[in-house]
Amino acid sequence: MTIVKGPPMKTITREHIHFRFDPAFEPAETAEPGETVRFLTKDCYDGQIDRDGKDFAELDMTRNNPVTGPLFVKGAEPGDILKVDILSVVPEDHGVMCVRPGKGIYEVQGSCCRRFEIKDGLIRFDGGRNIPLRMMIGVIGTTPAEPRDTQTPGEHGGNLDIKDLGAGCSVCLPVYVPGALLALGDCHAVQGDGETAICAMEAAAEVTVRVSVIRGETELPTPFIETEDHIYTTFGDESLDAASVAAAGKMHRYLMKKSGLSDAQAAMLLSLAGDLRISQVVNPKKGCVMQFPKRYL
Ligand code: CA
Ligand code: CA
Repeated sequence: MTIVKGPPMKTITREHIHFRFDPAFEPAETAEPGETVRFLTKDCYDGQIDRDGKDFAELDMTRNNPVTGPLFVKGAEPGDILKVDILSVVPEDHGVMCVRPGKGIYEVQGSCCRRFEIKDGLIRFDGGRNIPLRMMIGVIGTTPAEPRDTQTPGEHGGNLDIKDLGAGCSVCLPVYVPGALLALGDCHAVQGDGETAICAMEAAAEVTVRVSVIRGETELPTPFIETEDHIYTTFGDESLDAASVAAAGKMHRYLMKKSGLSDAQAAMLLSLAGDLRISQVVNPKKGCVMQFPKRYL
C-alpha cells in the first residue's frame, strides 16, 4: 500500500513575531481560503519569565504581547470578512504570570513574576490547587489600514481576551487590507472573566486555524464569535458602562436583522436568554461580550 502524503501544514514560526499590527509588514505565509495554518506563538512576555520568581525589573515590557504572523489570505479584499476557525490551541509545558502595583484591579505590595507547570491537562497552581486547562487566544486580529498596537481591543479584534475564544469556535473579523494580514498570540492556559490581575496563565502555544473569506455579509457585527451553542458580540471602551451597552446593542441589532424580530421582541429575548459579560477590565479599553444561545436565533 502506498500512502500518499499531502504537503506539510503551513507553519508560521516564532521568528515571525511583531509587537503591532502594521500593513507594512511582509506576510510570513500565504494561504488559500479553506486552508489550515499553524501559528507558533510566544507568551505575552515574549518568553522572558524563564524561571519562577524572576525579578520584574529584568523584564523589557516593550516586548509585550507579541503576535505571530501576519498571514496573507488569498482573495481577501477590503470589505470582506475573514472567518477564522480555531481548530486547536496547545500550550507548552508551563505558563507564566506577573502582577505588579498599579496594574489590574487589586492592591499588591510589589511585583511578582511566577512560572507554573502545565501537566496532564492541569495547571499546577500553589498549594495543590490544580486548575483544568482551558486554552484560549488572547490577541487575534486582522491588520487595520493604519498601524495598531497589540494591547488594545478594537473593531479589528486585537487584545480581546475573551475566555471562550478557544478550540471549536470561529471568529469573524473585518478585512481592511488585501490579504487580511491575520496575526495572533497571547494565548492563555486559563483565564477568568475580567482578567482582573492584568494577566492570565500566559502560555506559548501552537495554534491551528482554518481561514476562509466571507463576502456580502456586511451586516455581521464583527468581531463576531461563534461556538457550537452560542454567538457573541463584543465591544471595547475606556468605560465599562459604554462597552456593555455597545456589545449588547450590536447583538440587539443583529437579532432584528437575522431573525426578523421587532426591536421590542429582540430586547425582551436578550433580557431573558442573553448573558452580558465582562471579558476583561485591563487592556486600556475594557471589553464586554453579549453571549446568546443559537437555538433562539
Ligand atoms: Ca491579553
Ligand atoms: Ca495575556
